[in-house]
Amino acid sequence: MTRWLFLLLCLLPFAASAAPPLERTVAVTFDDLPFASVPTEDDGYLEDMTARLLHSLQAEHVPAVGFVNEAKLTRDGILDAGRVGLLRVWLQAGFELGNHTFSHLSLNRVPLAEFEADLLQGETVTLPLMQREGKTLRWFRHPFLHQGTTPEVRAAFRDFLTAHGYVVAPVTVNSPEWVFAAAYARAQAQGDEDAARRIGAAYVPYMQTVFAQAEQLALDLFGRPIAHVLVLHANSLNADHFDALADMLRQRGYRFVTLDDALRDPAYAAPLGASGAEGESWLEGWARQAGLRPPLPPPVPGFVTQWAGTAALRGY
Ligand SMILES: [Zn+2]
Repeated sequence: MTRWLFLLLCLLPFAASAAPPLERTVAVTFDDLPFASVPTEDDGYLEDMTARLLHSLQAEHVPAVGFVNEAKLTRDGILDAGRVGLLRVWLQAGFELGNHTFSHLSLNRVPLAEFEADLLQGETVTLPLMQREGKTLRWFRHPFLHQGTTPEVRAAFRDFLTAHGYVVAPVTVNSPEWVFAAAYARAQAQGDEDAARRIGAAYVPYMQTVFAQAEQLALDLFGRPIAHVLVLHANSLNADHFDALADMLRQRGYRFVTLDDALRDPAYAAPLGASGAEGESWLEGWARQAGLRPPLPPPVPGFVTQWAGTAALRGY
């Protein structure tokens, strides 16, 4: 072996370690604010749950956008100051809010005019709250990820959003997280702490499998990792387990970015076609458009679906 070859072989491991590590990015979003799947709707519990969730996000330095259904701000048809206060807490903690329609309608199920009126009704409280904090209401998230079943409805709704200053918040990592959340809330409501612990312990490994699937699908489609957008819900499960979820994601190489940053990934310019009509994520829609069949979500453990019971059948 020549001295130069020897030197080269000695240096190779350093060259490899000097290569930039694979960086993955994800933007985190929460739907159905001010809360979904809680063991009780007492004011004190909701305040505490919101504080725990936001504390986790701040401790993990995770920027997040929360999407509001203003129908949930009312109690017996009257606007509830305590629930409006929960939104103020999100804003004052430095997070952004978006519109998820007033009453969580499906664009696939109701006429466009009714859907648009419901969306505008969903600004009534959130818009002035955000203006007072010097923020602009600009993000829209489709309930059920339903984007309309015909090209005409999709195009007309796109124009409506643009005219009203909204930007669509896509989702690339969708999951039955809400089934775990419904199960967790029910176990807590029944005082079964052991079941709640088991459901919580199954949640993060499940989400790891969900991310592994999304990463593989992105690689198959784009040949590289993409900036993901994760949808979760403002529930007690995440108030108690977001920190563990964030740890798992960091270990997979993820950095948490803003929704604006994630959408700078050119992947978001990929054509979506008519897919996504049945509530698929953008990633699944892009895959179908490219002739790939997206995988089914990993099976939720049986004891989790049992605890979720009929709550899981409603969907969010
Ligand atoms: Zn929703």
